[in-house]
Amino acid sequence: MPHNILVVGELDGGTPSSTTLELLNGAQGLAGGGSVSVSLLGTGASAAAAQAAGASKAFVSDDANYDTFRGEQWLPAVQAAVEQSGADLVLMGQTTVGRELGPRLAFRLNTAVAMDCVAVTDNGGTIEATRPAYGGNAQATYTFATTPAVATVRAKSFDPATGGGAAETVELPAAGESRVNVTGKEVTESAGLAITEAPIVVGGGRGLGAPEAFEDLKNLAAAIGTDKAAVGASRAAVDLGWFPPSEQIGLTGKVVTPDLYIAVAISGASQHMAGCSGSKMIVAVNRDKDANIFAFSKYGIVGDWKQVVPALIEEFKKG
Ligand SMILES: Cc1cc2nc3c(=O)[nH]c(=O)nc-3n(C[C@H](O)[C@H](O)[C@H](O)COP(=O)(O)OP(=O)(O)OC[C@H]3O[C@@H](n4cnc5c(N)ncnc54)[C@H](O)[C@@H]3O)c2cc1C
Repeated sequence: MPHNILVVGELDGGTPSSTTLELLNGAQGLAGGGSVSVSLLGTGASAAAAQAAGASKAFVSDDANYDTFRGEQWLPAVQAAVEQSGADLVLMGQTTVGRELGPRLAFRLNTAVAMDCVAVTDNGGTIEATRPAYGGNAQATYTFATTPAVATVRAKSFDPATGGGAAETVELPAAGESRVNVTGKEVTESAGLAITEAPIVVGGGRGLGAPEAFEDLKNLAAAIGTDKAAVGASRAAVDLGWFPPSEQIGLTGKVVTPDLYIAVAISGASQHMAGCSGSKMIVAVNRDKDANIFAFSKYGIVGDWKQVVPALIEEFKKG
């Protein structure tokens, strides 16, 4: 059954963000002959429409007041795009924008939202949304009783769309007044790839025993390739002050969905798994053969990280 799908796009330096391109590819796969549209708000939106691969129509406003996300300004614009596109499915990223806008839009449209999805599929014409449940220990699949269905989707749930952008653009209204005044922005400086973007993430836990051990994990990431791998940490390691809170993985940290997650000296508590169970493959290093992390791992190495990590570094250096 054809679906008309609106992707709520986000701009990153004037171009569609990586998550936007992933959602556009996912939408193309789901549309089944229906339309795929995208909304883009903020400086450069019109130009970015030409790079929104997979969308036939782009709903845009270049108003700079949209540059800083404020839910009450974005909501009417996105609602207008939903109505004009005739969307029966609205996809947005599980980002700062999606986390706030998803529930607000669903409430406004008197419909339902599935948050934090790892997959959105079409099962014989019925849209199904899959999301982690019980702190990542299980996955729940939902259908929608109302339309449009709204889903926020984790990064890397789809491959990015490639090819030409939207042929048609439709102007959205400029931003209205906002009761929210953003007084400043603090950018956290971090060297190398962000853990949410890296195709390979090395996670370190309390079992490392000391903060210096994270240098070994950074060496492992460097041996894999600074353009491929990034280092994150469990909350236990972060709480001990061994690694910055911005790099914490889990329920109260960041959600990572890399191709490969290497969990070193991490027990695999459900709150940690909530942040990494969407990884395509998990490899665990733990000296306890009964550690919970092995239940989630494709490959497990039972041993002391002090021996295993240097051996892995040597292997990766060999290429
Ligand atoms: C509300 C709430 C939210 C939470 N949010 C998060 C979150 O976002 N992220 C998160 O990670 N946790 C979170 N937690 C904490 C979580 O429950 C666990 O306590 C935490 O994940 C444990 O971290 P860990 O695996 O590093 O440490 P531990 O559980 O102490 O595990 C250490 C592991 O290292 C292994 N080990 C020890 N020495 C070695 C060695 N030499 N070589 C190899 N392996 C070794 C041990 O066998 C063990 O399995 C949350 C908890 C609560 C209650």
